[in-house]
Amino acid sequence: MRTAIPFVAQLSEAEEKAWLQVLRTALSEHDIVRLDALTAAQREAAKVAIVANPAPTQLAAFPNLLWVQSLWAGVERLLVKTQEADFAIVRMTDPQLANTMAEAVLAWTLYLHRDMPRYRAQQLTQQWQQHPLPLPSERNIGLLGLGHLGKSAAQTLVHHGFTVYGWSRSQTAVDGVETLCGDRGLADVLRQSHILICLLPSTRKTCGLLNHQTLALLPPDAALINFARGSILDTDALLDHLNNGHLSHAVLDVFDEEPLPPQSPLWSHANITVLPHIAAPTHKQTASLIVANNIRQFLTQGKIPASVDRTLGY
Ligand code: NAP
Repeated sequence: MRTAIPFVAQLSEAEEKAWLQVLRTALSEHDIVRLDALTAAQREAAKVAIVANPAPTQLAAFPNLLWVQSLWAGVERLLVKTQEADFAIVRMTDPQLANTMAEAVLAWTLYLHRDMPRYRAQQLTQQWQQHPLPLPSERNIGLLGLGHLGKSAAQTLVHHGFTVYGWSRSQTAVDGVETLCGDRGLADVLRQSHILICLLPSTRKTCGLLNHQTLALLPPDAALINFARGSILDTDALLDHLNNGHLSHAVLDVFDEEPLPPQSPLWSHANITVLPHIAAPTHKQTASLIVANNIRQFLTQGKIPASVDRTLGY
């Protein structure tokens, strides 16, 4: 029997059209229907919806919702917006997304490892100067967050020969990685990280985790990559540590406010690389297959995929 699956999104017209096309192809045995095209009976009957930046009032249209499938991996805003609701939130966990993030982590780690910002600056002043190049194994990489994305990034870095230290909430094992947890574990990771990479979710516990005190634990000349969320990094503290010469460079892909406002000092800082949230974009084709599979399993077997823990916030 065909079921109407609500699609509730606040996206540009072109983005919405593209998503609907791939989702309808992936789940062709059912009808994926925009909120405004659903009948009252379909809204009443809906137990699952596909969402992308929905407004809470839009989701209130479904009195019997059991779960929503987000098209995004980070769902902190959806959690805040729906804190009164009791439906489960299933975020995007796509192996392709993990591969894409691992590729970004390797690319920007190599950017820092190979001193690219410094050679670019030298070119601008016609300076011909070579600097020592450590082996990857002599470069310690600290990876905060060892989840779907962090584990895959850690393995890619190990494969490339880097020495990797990983940190997570609970103790976890990753081949070739020294893994730590807890406050002391964080301090140990920070003290050894020549390059620190953040792949934590944005939660009450991780908000402002990278601040004056924690950044001070990094060794002199350390660099930072934030591919997680802007809320985790105190940018004033980062600027202080860059300006006083303690830290050498930061690659920032995520910000408190996106797009980054034109007046932000981060844009023009010589030791900051600003990226427009491009580390790991959701790939519509592979993501839509994951969504279709999750919804199909629910409709045929009643199985709701693993969902976000509303207490932990991830
Ligand atoms: P995930 O599978 O939920 O993994 C989260 C990891 O962070 C886990 O290892 C978890 O520890 C750890 N963690 C959570 N809270 C912690 C705490 N308080 N202290 C220490 N460790 C903590 O998430 P994911 O799929 O890897 O995604 C991570 C984040 O990447 C997303 O939330 C999103 O914000 C971001 N992201 C960014 C982009 C981009 O393009 N820039 C794209 C996709 C995602 P446990 O293992 O103990 O649970």
